[in-house]
Amino acid sequence: MTHFIGGTSRTSETTHVVNNPATGETVGAVAVGTITEVDDAVTAARGAFGEWSRATPAERSAVMLRWSQLLDENAEELAQLESAQAGKPIRLTREFDVPGTVDNTAFFAGAARNLEGKATAEYSPTHTSSIRREAIGVIGSIAPWNYPLQMAAWKILPAVAAGNTIVLKPSELTPLTSLRFAEIAHEAGVPAGVINIVNGRGTTVGAPLLRHPDVDMVSFTGSTAVGRTVLEAAATTAKRVHLELGGKAPFVVHDDADLQAAIRGAVAGSLINTGQDCTAATRAIVHESIFDDFVAGVADLYQRIQLGPTDDPTTDQGPLISAAHRDKVHAMVTRARDYAQVVTGGTIPGGALERGFYYPPTLIIGADPRSKIVVDEIFGPVLTVVPFRDDDEAIRLANDTVYGLAASVWTKDVYRALQATEQIRAGCVWVNDHISIFSEMPHGGMKQSGFGKDMSTYSLDEYTVVKHVAFDRTGQARRAWHETIFG
Ligand code: NAD
Repeated sequence: MTHFIGGTSRTSETTHVVNNPATGETVGAVAVGTITEVDDAVTAARGAFGEWSRATPAERSAVMLRWSQLLDENAEELAQLESAQAGKPIRLTREFDVPGTVDNTAFFAGAARNLEGKATAEYSPTHTSSIRREAIGVIGSIAPWNYPLQMAAWKILPAVAAGNTIVLKPSELTPLTSLRFAEIAHEAGVPAGVINIVNGRGTTVGAPLLRHPDVDMVSFTGSTAVGRTVLEAAATTAKRVHLELGGKAPFVVHDDADLQAAIRGAVAGSLINTGQDCTAATRAIVHESIFDDFVAGVADLYQRIQLGPTDDPTTDQGPLISAAHRDKVHAMVTRARDYAQVVTGGTIPGGALERGFYYPPTLIIGADPRSKIVVDEIFGPVLTVVPFRDDDEAIRLANDTVYGLAASVWTKDVYRALQATEQIRAGCVWVNDHISIFSEMPHGGMKQSGFGKDMSTYSLDEYTVVKHVAFDRTGQARRAWHETIFG
């Protein structure tokens, strides 16, 4: 695999091997770019900007609709590739990652035609104003490895729907489906240079992209730590910034909740994508009267989760992304044993699973709400459960985090639910559910989870700039100003 620059594939002298985290087998080799490929891709994107930004919304929409159809026709290939490079169970990529991306592409094909500004206005006796909503220019984008295809889609789709051109650097661990996504766009008729993919590492490709003087805006999804460096780099040329960062989602269960639904929700919400999900349910906060029943229910289901080959449609949970990440998750759990109780999991599995970077569903109780296992982002199949006594304490614990991406509240009391949705500081609060996302609805954080929205028409605001155009409709304004200033 290569880079995709100016509508053509391009190799580099150095390549990087992409391994399947479930087996260690090679999935492909990908070119490792340098500042040269970044420069060329930005030049290609700048060159394509004029024509693409001037295309009518209907023209952009038509090719994006073909793009979503072609993605659908290539769905099985994409599902296999995504599963192999990211270690996801094939059931997840077939039923979530790929259909989600097809739907997102179809959504933005429609949203591309919904880009109007506010109506013309006459606020003064002399002037008529109108609002233009324009594309920003060249977007430099950097994506993580946990949902490689969807993250590429979330970055690329609103940007190009609004008439921008883009250079995307996927994660070096999972570059393969982003390349296919761009190639399929080109096959569908997205012109050369509109979407460019440069592969390589954060320091050698990501950093120069962020600092490039001809990049107008950077959009980044990844860790909060790297997000801070993105802000610093963008400051050098005052670029617009969109940041989607880490999370540590609270999962609040009240004593009146449907307990079995909450238990199933906690299991699915914490184990989706092996817990490598920025919105995963990671901190269960459970009323003390149902605490033991909740823990017993989750432990029971956790022990029934099938870890196994990712190409087996019956597998529930795949591996973590890499040995280094698996070891980091295990070290966090091991350190927590000093002050908390590990109810299930917490050991690296052996036997047939040794070839991959598997880690079992791990349930932890007895930790102080301020302890590291409860506070830090783990990004693995680890759920902590802490008790609360009353509603105020539940909200205080839910908000006791530097993150603010997602949260859920489980209750049958509509007033309690509404108050929680108001009081919890997160970009998304689910009621009696966790994890559901919709192309039509915005995704994005508060606090150190970043700012800006992916998906939905809100994301089009991120990738457009509003311009005020004022006409003197009387022919008198210039004279009036001259008299005001010079007498
Ligand atoms: P990461 O921050 O390590 O890397 C993300 C991307 O940044 C990669 O492409 C990487 O190569 C690049 N990068 C690394 N250092 C860089 C540098 N100095 N300059 C420029 N680019 C650099 O994150 P990750 O490990 O790939 O992904 C996991 C993180 O992503 C988690 O914290 C998770 O919460 C977050 N995430 C957030 C969302 C969201 O929507 N908020 C979605 C998915 C993942």
